[in-house]
Order: sequence, then C-alpha cells, then structure tokens
Amino acid sequence: MSRHVLTPIPVRAPSHGWPVWGHISAIETLQDAVVHDRVRHAYLIGGPPGTGKRTLANAFITALCCQTPPSPGLACGACLSCRKIARGVHPDVQTFGLASQAAASEKAGTKNTTLTIETVRELSSGTAFHPTEGPWKIIVIEDAEALQEIAQEALLKTLEEPPRFVVILMLCNDPELLLPTIRSRCQTIELRRVSRSIVVEALIASGVTPQRAEEIASVAGGLPGLAYQIAANPKVLARQQETVDRALAWIGGSGYDRLVTAVRLGDTFAKKRPDVFVELETLLGVWRDALLLHAAQHPHLTYRGIAERLHALAAGWTLCDLQRGLCSVQQCLVDLEANVRPRLALEAMVLQWPMTPSRH
Ligand SMILES: [Zn+2]
Repeated sequence: MSRHVLTPIPVRAPSHGWPVWGHISAIETLQDAVVHDRVRHAYLIGGPPGTGKRTLANAFITALCCQTPPSPGLACGACLSCRKIARGVHPDVQTFGLASQAAASEKAGTKNTTLTIETVRELSSGTAFHPTEGPWKIIVIEDAEALQEIAQEALLKTLEEPPRFVVILMLCNDPELLLPTIRSRCQTIELRRVSRSIVVEALIASGVTPQRAEEIASVAGGLPGLAYQIAANPKVLARQQETVDRALAWIGGSGYDRLVTAVRLGDTFAKKRPDVFVELETLLGVWRDALLLHAAQHPHLTYRGIAERLHALAAGWTLCDLQRGLCSVQQCLVDLEANVRPRLALEAMVLQWPMTPSRH
C-alpha cells in the first residue's frame, strides 16, 4: 500500500469548481453522486495516460471526504481532510498499483509488470476495517489494466459484496482489457483527450505565459497530464517534440523505411513497452491531425507545430487513405494490448498506410 501524493494542479477550473480541466460530463456524474448521496461502490475510470484519471479521482475523493464543503459536491481545500488527501496521508484513502507493489516487493526482487493476487488480497483485507475519519473508506487501484486474470477473479469477490462504506476507484488505460465481470460491477467513466483550447486555458490559469501555453499545447496531444509535466520540466517538451517529429518522419518515409521502423519498434517492445505505446499514441494524433487538415479544421489540430509539413505530406491522400492510416494505428494498439506479436502488429499497421507520392 502507498499513499499517493497529489500532482499539483494549482487552480480550480471554472464553472464546476473541481480542479479538473475538461471532462465535464465525468465531473457532473461524480458530483451528482456526491450531492444526491448516490455514490456507487466501484468506479472504473478509463482513458489514455495523461488524460487526468488520477486528478479526477482525487477531486472526487476530496469532495467525498471534505468536512466543510462550501456547497454540496465541492471541497473546501482547507479542512484537515482536504489537506491530508492533498498530502497523500489520509488514513481512509489507500492506493495500490505497480508503484506500491514494487515498493512492497523490493526485497523479494519480483518482476513488476503485473498486479498480483497478493496485492488484491492486501487491498481486499483493508476493506474490512471501518474508516477512521469520515464516512468512506476509499481504495484506489492504479494501473488496473495490469491486473493478472487470477487477481481480477480475486477482486471480483470484493466487488460483489463490498462493505457499505467502501468505494473502489479503478484507474485503467483501457477498460476493455479487464474481465467483463469486473466491468459490469463498476460504473465506467471514460475520459478522452481534451481539446487544445482547454489545455491552453488550464496552463495559462496555472501561471504559464500564453505564448508558452500555446507551444506546450501544440505537442501535448490533448493530454493535460502531459502538458503539466512539460510545463514543469522543459526537457519533456524537447522529448515530446522529438516524438512528434519521429511520428511524422515515420509516416513520410518510403515503404521500406516504414517497415524498418516498425521492425525496430517491434523488437524493442518487450523491454520498452510504455515507450512504444507513447510513440503509437503520438502517431495516432498525427494521423488524426492529417484528417483534420483534410477537413480544414486547423483550430482543432493537436500538433499545430507540424501542420505545414503534414499538410504537404498528406496533400495527395484521400479521406479514405487518411481514415485507413488512422484505423491502422488504432488496430495496432488493440493488437499489442491483446498480445499479438509486436513485430507482426506493427508491420501490419504500416502496410495499411497510403504511399507517399514520390517515395515508393
Ligand atoms: Zn475540506
């Protein structure tokens, strides 16, 4: 078990009063549950890394536990409970995930790429004890997609008959990877990338200059979490820019070069799985931008910095070509999650791409 320390997101977003930008319908669902006393025992919050799953979960937890809410569904941010949650030391809020499991199993030297049944047993045993400071005992399961099948089966028992004071929040990059029996026992809340303008607005509100906010948003791909990371660490911006450039170069390469890149990434997948997923998510964003350019929707571009180069590259492609490119990346992500051989999945993806005019 570990105490999770909040990622600082300094300001409250307008209108709904939670420190979460975008994701309005998700916020309304959770706020409504707090206000009308209709809190479910299990929620499954899904969405790509950096969309704001943990931020949303923390806002929900804070609203649930606040001792002096300024109005129903909001948190004061100042009471003892709010402060303890912000510092990650609230005794009724426990977080489990790959990081906490690694910390617990450091001595045993176990491989730490999946969440084991032991971790589920530990969190389940924690649900038996009444909360000590408020009405709720909250269990957060991060990296839920990493739960082994046997661990999920063990978790089912807890999800079937939770004590009335327990709320379980599962955070998952892709809820489809969980057993249907798990999903059916949770209320699923799906987070998507937020619009570029929301990322800009959030950054400006946290003290970033408008010019820099535009610059960051142009590579953050609608992921507020990534945008905040970039704002905090300039090196992340350079790295992300390189990733976007690599994606563009991959799409713009000859058939041969595309295959070489696919094979290279496929061969590193076992060791660098998260990195490969970042490359592919970025690639997906670039294809999406190519479609938006085709539809003359410049204001909605995710990666504005490459607009001209992308426009030149995709000028000869039809809507159908672009859609095929986009779908091929989505399929590859699904295949990799489903343990298709990485090289095969990546090769199949690039073979779907329309040829660049002069580079067969
Ligand atoms: Zn409070």
